[in-house]
Amino acid sequence: MIRISNIKIYEDLDNDNLIDVVTKKFKIDKNDILEWHIVKKSIDARKKDNVHYNYSIDLKLKNENKYKKFDKVKETSIPSIKVNNLNNKEVVVVGSGPSGIFAALTLTQNGLCPIVIEQGSPVEEREKQVELFRKTGELNILSNVQFGEGGAGTFSDGKLTTGIHSPFCKKVLEEFVNFGAPEEILYLAKPHIGTDKLIKIIKNIREYIISKGGKFLFNTKVIDFNINDKKISSVICKNRNSTSEINTSHVILAIGHSSRDTFQKLYEKGINMEKKNFSVGVRIEHLQEEINKAQYGDSKLNLPSADYKLSYHLPNGRSCYTFCMCPGRSCYCFF
Ligand SMILES: Cc1cc2nc3c(=O)[nH]c(=O)nc-3n(C[C@H](O)[C@H](O)[C@H](O)COP(=O)(O)OP(=O)(O)OC[C@H]3O[C@@H](n4cnc5c(N)ncnc54)[C@H](O)[C@@H]3O)c2cc1C
Repeated sequence: MIRISNIKIYEDLDNDNLIDVVTKKFKIDKNDILEWHIVKKSIDARKKDNVHYNYSIDLKLKNENKYKKFDKVKETSIPSIKVNNLNNKEVVVVGSGPSGIFAALTLTQNGLCPIVIEQGSPVEEREKQVELFRKTGELNILSNVQFGEGGAGTFSDGKLTTGIHSPFCKKVLEEFVNFGAPEEILYLAKPHIGTDKLIKIIKNIREYIISKGGKFLFNTKVIDFNINDKKISSVICKNRNSTSEINTSHVILAIGHSSRDTFQKLYEKGINMEKKNFSVGVRIEHLQEEINKAQYGDSKLNLPSADYKLSYHLPNGRSCYTFCMCPGRSCYCFF
């Protein structure tokens, strides 16, 4: 495979037209193409009088000798996650937000059968609960916009935002595509799934885990832990009005935000905990037309709603940055 990077395109093109333009521009015989795909697509709007798309594409070509001037693709493999042999012991995953879902998926892919315990409802039911809340204000305190399968961001915008550069980010995107997300998330500079698709994808991941022997206990809250000789032996769960005990020697807590009650319980049990930095955010709203004007100037391209990213770092290590900008809607800004 060869990679052509930094391809500047000044018009709106579908994929067929894109490959025509690229082959012409770089003198590639279209008949030599065995396979091609976009690796990256972004909008370069740094100079307002020169706004354009920027593409990188990979091509597999016949007669490679003709194309020696192009860079070869350097394959980067995703590190595999190996789970130690747990002798088929059941692993309990508490919480089915992004962390819990991917923990359960990874366990399943390593041949284990996790039990996922979530205080909220399955995502399809949760969708109705969120809808009811928006219409009537009736709040289910355990299953709502913040809690339930899919976790906190499911009913937000579905922007796949992260500030880290980990090879596992690619794994997350690839798994989303495997379970039904559009392939463009693999190459767009600012990938976005959207709540409507996310709901189906989360359901698909759950059904896959169940098909491999995993279990999901919804509307079930973990309220206590039995620990003997510094080892966990079971978790106590509450489901509506009854409590039950699940024996386990391995628990993954993926309980996200607002889990003060669980942390209090862990503290009472003498479990070691480490504090982690956190960010406090505010929501900022702007008129989209002003952001478009500021970012794109008078560009005539058929560009999506513009976004922006800002950060400010103080010498004492504190910083302020925009996190999740939802073009056309709002921007979450964290300090
Ligand atoms: C309004 C909003 C919008 C957001 N939008 C975006 C976005 O567009 N893009 C983005 O990248 N990030 C977004 N985020 C941030 C993102 O949602 C979080 O980073 C992410 O959800 C964290 O995942 P998590 O699995 O660690 O925790 P969570 O998503 O918080 O999931 C934890 C789960 O554990 C369950 N739980 C907690 N305690 C228990 C218990 N004792 N027993 C059983 N279950 C329990 C909860 O019900 C919850 O479902 C948004 C966050 C919010 C609040």
